[in-house]
Parts: sequence; structure tokens; C-alpha cells
Amino acid sequence: MSRVLIIGAGGVGNVVAKKCAMLPEVFSEIMLASRTKSKCDKIASEIKDRTIHTAQVDADNVPELVALINEFKPAMVINVALPYQDLTIMDACLETGVHYLDTANYEPKDVAKFEYSWQWAYMDRFKEKGLMALLGCGFDPGVTGVYTAYAAKHHFDEMHYLDIVDCNAGDHGKAFATNFNPEINIREITQNGRFYENGDWVETKPLEFHKPIDYPNIGARESYLLYHEELESLVKNFPSIKRARFWMTFGQEYIKHLEVLQNVGMTSIEPIKFQGQEIIPLEFLKALLPEPSSLGENYEGETSIGCQIKGVKDGKDQTYYVWNNCSHQAAYDETGGQGVAYTTGVPAMIGAMMMLTGKWNKAGVYNVEEFDPDPFMEQLNIHGLPWHEKVGLELPHEY
Ligand code: NDP
Repeated sequence: MSRVLIIGAGGVGNVVAKKCAMLPEVFSEIMLASRTKSKCDKIASEIKDRTIHTAQVDADNVPELVALINEFKPAMVINVALPYQDLTIMDACLETGVHYLDTANYEPKDVAKFEYSWQWAYMDRFKEKGLMALLGCGFDPGVTGVYTAYAAKHHFDEMHYLDIVDCNAGDHGKAFATNFNPEINIREITQNGRFYENGDWVETKPLEFHKPIDYPNIGARESYLLYHEELESLVKNFPSIKRARFWMTFGQEYIKHLEVLQNVGMTSIEPIKFQGQEIIPLEFLKALLPEPSSLGENYEGETSIGCQIKGVKDGKDQTYYVWNNCSHQAAYDETGGQGVAYTTGVPAMIGAMMMLTGKWNKAGVYNVEEFDPDPFMEQLNIHGLPWHEKVGLELPHEY
């Protein structure tokens, strides 16, 4: 029985709040706080059988966060605001003595840089206070790390090749929209790609490498090699991995729009002067695009995200594929959110449950794959993200 403070009332915050509300035996009191309080109130009003406290907070402001935490006295904070706020929220947790969880690594606003270094640097401070910070507990990062830990525990003596494969075969009917915060999403995709091979990072041009990958129940979809933050922690925590890559599908329409927007400078994060005012083109673009949380209603199709791993078990070659398919419509029917918000919000709730029930409990700053994957995998099956596995079969694409 614990009090939890959820910060961020976007697509993911909506799912986290609703899923936590379904488990009063774990989350006894819930507060949802965000920059715009009316968004928290709307979500709270949709949760009929429980009272959800709401509040306005600027999560860039540590004293404001500290005041809110001291007033509500949660056992932990679930941070589903934006990656820009990770460090201020961690600072506030340290000051007030509460545990911390997020779903995306810290990014400075002025440079799109994806790495854990800033947050890993909090290790000693969290240890000294006897507090735990769990980083990257969405789907990817998040479940992909739990899947990899589960594979290492049950199916391999050594893992050598890891491919994380992420397909969104859904259709929301809009010409161009992103499934989570457009600013964060476009910053990620327009960066150079990167993968890990034999101890080094190999850089690629944005979306340079692509190929069709076969996804269960969906079929072949063109998939693009991107850098994704969990690669950094996974190759550190599983040093036998020789190569680690991340693939994500994009439709032709999406790529066409993105190319045009990039060519005209709309995806830039460099400030420009416009009619005497300084604006950041990508922030302006975000204001024009549909809110990801509004995409759910007519969203058809499903997502499929998994890990394909090759390595050795009992002296023999071993292959393993573990994945989840999530229907956008089913996610909407249950929470009013689309599949991408659902696949992020459910693992965040489960991670919080792991921490509050003491199943994952270690002072310091950790990534999900550093804990026993079994209780988390069990909860995925119970709370809407059932997983499937294929052991010892040919993987659907080359290695
Ligand atoms: P949204 O943009 O829909 O929501 C973000 C929320 O954070 C909004 O309610 C916003 O408030 C609030 N917020 C932003 N800045 C502040 C601030 N300074 N103080 C208080 N609140 C603030 O994003 P999503 O819900 O799509 O994404 C949430 C997080 O989940 C992101 O960090 C994203 O990177 C991560 N994510 C992780 C995934 C994974 O698998 N690991 C996948 C998808 C997303 P306002 O409404 O006023 O703008």
C-alpha cells in the first residue's frame, strides 16, 4: 500500500494513471501532476471508481517539485513528463527521500544527445540516501531490457547478437503524426544511426540502413536501423554481446513527410528569429501536429516489439525471439490511449509495482535488465502485454 506521484499527463501519463488506479492494493493513493492541470483533471475524471488527486507543477523547477512531494508524501515518483525533466525530478527525489522511475533517458534541450551518463552519475547520491532510481522502464527502453535479461537467465549461456525489432503496423488515418511526443520522437529519428559491433559503436547516416523484417501476425515491414538508448546499457550489462542493433518500421508516407520537413528546416532545434521573436522550428512544428494522446479513437492495427537473440546454450548455437503484439483498438477500449502510449505506460506501472512491493529493491541508479526479469514478465501477462517466444528456430532475417 503506497502513495505514488505521477508527473506528466500526456499519452503515457494517461495510461499510467489508469493502470495504477486498477490496483488499489499496490497504489493506495495516486496524484497526477503536470504543467497543465486541466489535462490531469480530465484523466482523473475518466477514472470513475477512485479519487485521483491532481496538481499543477513545473517539473523544470526543483523547489516546486520538492514542495509538491513534501505535501503529498509519495513513496515514489513515476516520471512520464519529458526527458528534459529527468534530472530536476531526480534532484527533487533526492531532496525529499522518495524513489524514482522514468521511461526515457535525460536529454538536454539544446542538443539531441541520447546517453545515460548524466543519470548514471547520480548512482552514489541515490545509494547514500538508500533510494532507488529505475531508468527507462517503458517498452523500448524497458520491456526490451527485461526480455534480454529473461533470455540471458533462461535461454543462453552467452548472448552474442541482439536485434531489437519494433514495428508499428497501425493506421491512425492522419497524413503525418507521431505516436509519442513529436519533439522527442523527431529528435530521435533525425539523428545519425548507431549500432554496437565488437566493442565499438558504428555510426550511420539517419535511416541509412533498412530492410524488410517479418513481424508475427503482421508480415514483412521495411525496418530502419536507429540508435536507441537501451543499446548503451544492454551492451554494458551483457558484455558477451558482440553486436546490438535496433530496428524500427516507418511507412513511406511518414518518411516522405519527414524528408520534406527536414529539407525546409522545420525539424531543426536551432532557434531562429521570426517576426521579432525567437522560435525553435521543431517546437513550432509540434504545435501544428496532432497530440499523440488524441490518436487513439480510430487507430487500427497493432504494434509488435521484440528481441531476436543469437548465442550459445550448452555448447550449441541457440536462437531466441521474444515479443509482444499490442492492438491499438484494445488499448483504446481499455484506457482511451493508443498502443504506443499503452505499451509504455503499462511497463512503467509494473516497474513501480516491482519497486513498491520490494521485488526490485536496490539503492542506487539502475536499468531494468539489472533485476530479476521473472516477476516483471509474469505481470506483463496479467496487465495487458502478453509475450510470446520462439526458441531454437531460424530467425526471420539474416545474421
Ligand atoms: P506527451 O507530450 O504526450 O506528454 C508529456 C507530458 O509532460 C505533458 O502532459 C506535458 O505537459 C508534461 N510536461 C512537459 N514539460 C513539463 C514540465 N516542465 N513540467 C510538468 N509537466 C511537463 O508525451 P508522451 O506521454 O508521449 O511521453 C511521455 C514520456 O514517455 C516521454 O519522456 C517519452 O520520451 C517517453 N516514452 C517512452 C517510450 C518507451 O517505450 N520507453 C515510448 C514513448 C514515450 P503539457 O501537457 O502542458 O505539455
